[in-house]
Amino acid sequence: MRKPFIAGNWKMFKTTKEALDFAVQFLEIYKPSDVKVAICAPFTQLSALSEAFRGTGIKIGAQNMHFEENGAYTGEISAAMLKEIGVDYCIIGHSERRQYFNETDETVNKKLHKAFEHEILPILCVGEVLEERDAGRAMEVVERQMKAALLGLATEQVELLTVAYEPVWAIGTGRTATPEQADEMCGHIRSIIEELTSEETADKVVIQYGGSVKPDNATELMDMYEIDGALVGGASLKPVDFLAIIDF
Ligand code: 13P
Repeated sequence: MRKPFIAGNWKMFKTTKEALDFAVQFLEIYKPSDVKVAICAPFTQLSALSEAFRGTGIKIGAQNMHFEENGAYTGEISAAMLKEIGVDYCIIGHSERRQYFNETDETVNKKLHKAFEHEILPILCVGEVLEERDAGRAMEVVERQMKAALLGLATEQVELLTVAYEPVWAIGTGRTATPEQADEMCGHIRSIIEELTSEETADKVVIQYGGSVKPDNATELMDMYEIDGALVGGASLKPVDFLAIIDF
């Protein structure tokens, strides 16, 4: 049985002081439950957050990492560096990285391999842009992204994967996919995983929806059969809003 998994993606928001203020306020109101929770923060906040949330069950995630072990890659951060400071998860292939930082299906695949090598759990993001949806190509685009991302991964690795379906047109726009649209694509993602591995493996993969998830639409999205969780941007920045989503 898959557990619900709500992850916050803070993107490029919050200084360390602001992150620690968030942790204090959040822990005052948070009660552990069956819902898994992670916060994916900027690199410079990860150490402080992993300290602040130690022993609470809240997991810490990064938003990117490099695919090489180490080397002359000025400005980059490796999986081993993240692991050392208590990072559990890493978002890989977010559309903002594909759009602005040259992330490709190929680098996404290399990053997944490297993350698993260091026992960092990837949250793989896939999703189509508006023109692709309007042209009726959303399913095919996500299928290409999924197949390229999973290339060469072992079944035991795929089982540990979280996939976030984030239609690019719904990110930060206030325009959420309808629960039916989101559920249909999450089901499609599960069937691609089944085709690549097995039904048993596909059943284990946690699939999140992301894109303008807010306290007032979280319940209807989480009620959908194929949607196991949410990757939350803007609404994860405020403790009360993030908690309302966790308590969907
Ligand atoms: P918003 O929730 O702000 O739309 O962002 C979604 C997202 O990109 C999470 O990774």
